[in-house]
Amino acid sequence: MAIGAMLFVPNLPGTPDAGILAPLHAETAEEVKIEVLGHGETFGGVLSRVMIPHAEQQALLLAFQEHASPSRLRVGTEITLRYLRGVPDVRAIEVVVSPDELLRIERSDFGWRSAKVETPVWVDTVFVHGEITRDLWSAVVLNPDLEDMPRADRARVIDLMDRVFQWQLDFSRQIQTGDSYRLAFEREVRPDGTMRKGRILAAELVNRDRPIHAIWFDLHDDGVGGYYDLDGESLRRAFLKAPLEFRRISSRFNMNRFHPILNTRRPHIGVDYAAATGTPVMATADGTVTVRGVQGGYGNLVEIRHSSGYVTKYAHLNGFASDVRAGSRVRQGQIIGYVGMTGLATGPHLHYELHKDGRPVDPLSVDIPSGEPIPAEYLERWNGEADVRFALLNRAARGPGFQMARADDGAAGADARARSVVDPLGDAPSDEGSP
Ligand SMILES: [Zn+2]
Repeated sequence: MAIGAMLFVPNLPGTPDAGILAPLHAETAEEVKIEVLGHGETFGGVLSRVMIPHAEQQALLLAFQEHASPSRLRVGTEITLRYLRGVPDVRAIEVVVSPDELLRIERSDFGWRSAKVETPVWVDTVFVHGEITRDLWSAVVLNPDLEDMPRADRARVIDLMDRVFQWQLDFSRQIQTGDSYRLAFEREVRPDGTMRKGRILAAELVNRDRPIHAIWFDLHDDGVGGYYDLDGESLRRAFLKAPLEFRRISSRFNMNRFHPILNTRRPHIGVDYAAATGTPVMATADGTVTVRGVQGGYGNLVEIRHSSGYVTKYAHLNGFASDVRAGSRVRQGQIIGYVGMTGLATGPHLHYELHKDGRPVDPLSVDIPSGEPIPAEYLERWNGEADVRFALLNRAARGPGFQMARADDGAAGADARARSVVDPLGDAPSDEGSP
């Protein structure tokens, strides 16, 4: 801090420039030691290892226990010990108790004081574009635009896309070679480079030459918001296109190589999704449960009656969600059961059926009325914000895709503004925007 301030000291006549930088090379007053919790080691064990006296260890453990359990630390946990230079007694200890929390124990005149501190994050905007040459998974996870992101976070980008477009597309059945996407998303980044939260601000998905747009808009100004197309109509529909999260669906199944027994016995009137046993199954629309139990070849079945003559069935379940019974009301996206292979099934998969007025229909072919438009009183704000967010997509189209506003890359004003530090105690943006 002091050094930073000194750099702005005006250059008075006669002041030698060279002297200003001298403090950079001065020894800091603090010495830091970082210890890593080994296999079978305890927090107390680390304290012993660094020669902290036994009486002090007890006091430190008590201070620790005020906020977290020292016995639940994972192997590899970093424990930072801070000393004043030349003073043998430890001054402060910091323990990373979770990716988002740091426990700080500090020596005071009244003994050890502990506090839990939320890890500070910073926010940036990521621009990415890609084309599907093999499948959506590789088009996102292997996208060079995202090469600076940890792989697990790249997979989460697929989840973000799936949640935005869940009413428009069944990614597992409809994405095909030649499709393309552009995204601008905002993320909270931890000091270790992992993403705490992400939210798509604008997206374009071109599916079979048909572009679908999604612009995030916080209608109620509550941090949740939702997605709208370029005409200002909500992307929400009465039905989700698929009852499973795309990422949970086994890729082998996307290739249509899987044939359940029912296929060979009678015309197949549903959609099959291969997924691991236990994968959560969502109700695709609001409705009332009419069946919850075993029903012949369906095995464990949930059947839901919806408005306008629609009925959905979810078969071969391994088990049911505990709050789902015949007669229960369920909401769109609610977990109703778990993938299994009960009834006539050769492997774990979900058999999903949609019926309209008693006749089976393909969930993809159903014509669902378009979404709610932005109410008139919000249109002015929408028009302004939508233009700005849609324009972000143009940055995704021009490479290089990854436009992080790093402090050290000499980013121009716009990039520098894209980065802001979130006050962990303040109103951080809530989760991805769609429940
Ligand atoms: Zn089936």
